[in-house]
Amino acid sequence: KEELNIIQGALELRTKAVEDAFTPLGDCFMLRSDAVLDFSTVSEILRSGYTRIPVYEGEDRANIVDILFVKDLAFVDPDDCTQLQTVTRFYNRPLHCVFNDTRLDAVLEEFKKGKSHLAVVQRVNNEGEGDPFYEIMGIITLEDIIEEIIKSEILDE
Ligand code: ADP
Repeated sequence: KEELNIIQGALELRTKAVEDAFTPLGDCFMLRSDAVLDFSTVSEILRSGYTRIPVYEGEDRANIVDILFVKDLAFVDPDDCTQLQTVTRFYNRPLHCVFNDTRLDAVLEEFKKGKSHLAVVQRVNNEGEGDPFYEIMGIITLEDIIEEIIKSEILDE
């Protein structure tokens, strides 16, 4: 029965899209690009428990410009109060984007290629009077897709 469920979940990847599985911006733990990696910020990062943290510029959390990997902090001494930008510029992690209506099987294929297991979710906003623009909605990771396949939450370590 469990196996049938998983097979069904896998088949359903073709009928589901990113917007069925992603984590909305409001729920994302993120950092401002002008943050200083002092003791309190580093503790907060570690307490969040996430391995990848989107970095946004300015006031608008939708303006994601970088991804910080927690392992990038290995050589950072909190006493040095290093600028976050110094670290993100050094590692320069690529930012992958997917559209909200991309099918989950396609995103899984992208993740399988191994470049990154986290993508920024964007949509085309053509609601207002002005020109359509790309609006960032949140993030999606490999784990979100696996959860769709097994149809249950994976609890974090
Ligand atoms: P991690 O390795 O950091 O635990 P996973 O890729 O295993 O992250 O994802 C676990 C869940 O947490 C997924 O639902 C994913 O969308 C979400 N997630 C990943 N990174 C963040 C973050 N920085 N803030 C909020 N949620 C996140």
